[in-house]
Amino acid sequence: DGEIEFENVTFSYENGRGPALHNISFKVGKGSSVALVGESGAGKSTILRLLYRFYDLKPGEGRILIDGQDISTVTQKSLRQAIGVVPQDSVLFNSSIMYNIGYGKFGASLQEIEEAARSAQMHDRIMSFPTGYETLVGERGVRLSGGEKQRVAIARTLLKNPPILLLDEATSALDTTTEKDIQKALQNLVQGRSSLSIAHRLSTIASADLILVLRDGQIVEQGNHRELVAFD
Ligand code: ADP
Ligand code: ADP
Repeated sequence: DGEIEFENVTFSYENGRGPALHNISFKVGKGSSVALVGESGAGKSTILRLLYRFYDLKPGEGRILIDGQDISTVTQKSLRQAIGVVPQDSVLFNSSIMYNIGYGKFGASLQEIEEAARSAQMHDRIMSFPTGYETLVGERGVRLSGGEKQRVAIARTLLKNPPILLLDEATSALDTTTEKDIQKALQNLVQGRSSLSIAHRLSTIASADLILVLRDGQIVEQGNHRELVAFD
């Protein structure tokens, strides 16, 4: 469960100038982590979009397989059940933190939500009555920091419990306490799942099973951290 394969994937946006991805092939083994690195415009987000079928985008050539099955043959609904997404900047509802974590999982119990919050290192905020249970977040309530918003998204995804994860790490600098909390939260989330990350944190890159270096829509280097450093 959760094995991903890109097979000679080429893709051009309708209004794009040239191919955003050119002949991309790689595998993410069950439970392993792949880090996508490369300059802005290299094609990292396009890889995630095609896998999740954001905007119903599909490869022009090649195939994307999950557990051996071409994703163009599965329903959007089942695809989205299998894949959890943690975006760079999560949009929260004007509601409580608890609601924001539980949203998307109909019938989740308070206990389940609290446990997800704990794994996402959100327990301080959650347990500090009334912030977690009652106070509104968002434009009409308290504002959460970027790191807190990300941990809400992580907790929501933990609750959803998908075999596959797509992560778009924030580029903004965080203070060291927050950084540690997020690192721990991400570790708890990634554990036991197949993950594909647009990686900015050194810790994510260093711990990835495979790093793909992209440039102009192509994979120009690949290997684990040790191999790539040795290659330099
Ligand atoms: P990265 O995530 O590495 O910054 P992207 O996957 O967003 O790169 O972009 C890859 C290429 O596709 C770039 O040349 C970018 O300009 C182009 N591109 C991205 N999104 C769109 C879009 N919605 N329409 C047209 N071109 C796009
Ligand atoms: P916009 O500024 O265009 O409304 P945002 O992405 O900033 O878009 O916000 C979308 C929604 O996400 C807001 O309506 C608000 O409810 C929520 N939100 C944004 N920033 C925060 C924050 N720091 N803490 C809590 N909720 C937020």
